[in-house]
Amino acid sequence: LPFLRGEKQEELTFLLSTVLLTLSKGAMVLVCIEDITERKRMEQEVRLMALFAELNPAPVMRFDKDGKVLMANKAAHELFGAALATEVSLSSVLPGIGGLDLDACIRKGVILSHSVEIGDRLFHFVFRGVPDLGVGQVYGSDITKRRQAQEELRESEERYRSLMELGGQIGEAIIMLQDTAQGAAIQTFVSDEWTRITGYSREELLGRPFFSFVHHKHWVATEDKHRRRMAGESIPGLFEISIVRKDNTEVPIELTSAYTTYKGERASVVYIRDITARKWMEEQLVMADRLASIGELAAGVAHELNNPLTGIIGFSELLLEKNVPDDIKEDLAIIHHEALRTAEVIKNLLAFGRKRAPSKQPVNITTVIARVLGLRAYEQKLNNIRVDTRFAHDLPDAMTDSFQLQQVFLNIIINAEYFMMEAHKEGTLVITTERVGDMVRASFTDDGPGISADNLKHLFDPFFTTKAIGEGTGLGLSICYGTVTEHGGRIYAESELGKGATFVVELPVIDAGGKEAVK
Ligand code: ADP
Repeated sequence: LPFLRGEKQEELTFLLSTVLLTLSKGAMVLVCIEDITERKRMEQEVRLMALFAELNPAPVMRFDKDGKVLMANKAAHELFGAALATEVSLSSVLPGIGGLDLDACIRKGVILSHSVEIGDRLFHFVFRGVPDLGVGQVYGSDITKRRQAQEELRESEERYRSLMELGGQIGEAIIMLQDTAQGAAIQTFVSDEWTRITGYSREELLGRPFFSFVHHKHWVATEDKHRRRMAGESIPGLFEISIVRKDNTEVPIELTSAYTTYKGERASVVYIRDITARKWMEEQLVMADRLASIGELAAGVAHELNNPLTGIIGFSELLLEKNVPDDIKEDLAIIHHEALRTAEVIKNLLAFGRKRAPSKQPVNITTVIARVLGLRAYEQKLNNIRVDTRFAHDLPDAMTDSFQLQQVFLNIIINAEYFMMEAHKEGTLVITTERVGDMVRASFTDDGPGISADNLKHLFDPFFTTKAIGEGTGLGLSICYGTVTEHGGRIYAESELGKGATFVVELPVIDAGGKEAVK
């Protein structure tokens, strides 16, 4: 019997029971009214629950406090099949739930959960109790895919981590750049290798634009490439730029980048390699190459000049012997002298351009140095040059062309004398010979003016000279360089401006069998 109550016009349901009472004065009807609104609502709810449970594509079962299955929906029947007969216990279809307190779940509304593998699928079951009704309901959800996804994620994370580490091992840095509110090309990820190349910590790198590390001479090109890539343009290939490390040194790097999307935003993943060592090798090759081509040119020019010059020298000599007025003779002497000097230069040019293989023999370099010192002794005495020799005894031989080696030492010694004289009209030259590993080394240390860092880079370049015009050709050291490298050795200089200079020549020693030692 529906009944509307109060202002809210709530609908209540009553159950009326009537009893006819026959009394002495007549009959009377006793009406008992019971408010069953709540019970109705619960019944409705249970019906709805049953309907929803039935429609649920996930398995749903209702159970009592003893764990007996009261009802199972279609999905549950499909999942458990014959195992789910009526009145079966929950634990027979859900193995391993013995430890769950289903009674507490129903009485206190405790929520329980449990995962069970059924076939090749993994289900997660949640148990909820309805204390009012004295029943519990269990819902299962298939989490096979989710677990797979989690495993895949973990695997891909592992893969990614090992890729990063591998990158570091082979000297490749990986960074991610994104355009954010902080600016363009902000570093949103950096691998360890990038911290090594730049000298900055991860904290210092993250959040800072990549461009702030790029050497300014490459700003324009780098920004342009980044902008085009972020606009989706494909920019193939490798390119080289340099960056400035935290300690202010310039580091050449090679980079490639790929365009991707990260967290819904465009991102550029950049692979970077430090190419300092390769650059250095390339420079050495270029140097050797440049020397070779200049050598060819020099030899060609020298040959062309040699013939007319021979004429000039010869005829001026003839004229000098003739009976000519004294003033003309003086001029002729100058012509003759200058022509001889030119011939000297040409001889050097020819030596520089010469490609013939030297005739090598086992030679003790100390002996060669001693011979050169003998040649210079007179001049040195005249010019107040002291020579302090520190020769190693029992120095092994090197396989060399002793004449060419003599030219090398002579050039170094004459240079030292010249620059010491120029600086303070005297000087001390210390000459050391020693064995270092598989090499014999000769060092020549003077107390002259020293060499600036800038000049140090060009010492061995042909035609590099700081001597006054007419005094130097700048070919001496480049010839030395050619000779020493041709012998499989090294020549280099160490110096600081104002602190003298040391020239070092190293040549491979020969073993007792007379062969050059293998390094
Ligand atoms: P040149 O002697 O004709 O100048 P070199 O090739 O022998 O040509 O030397 C090139 C340059 O190297 C010199 O002009 C000088 O600037 C520098 N140099 C060589 N030896 C010394 C030294 N001992 N001290 C200072 N500078 C030196």
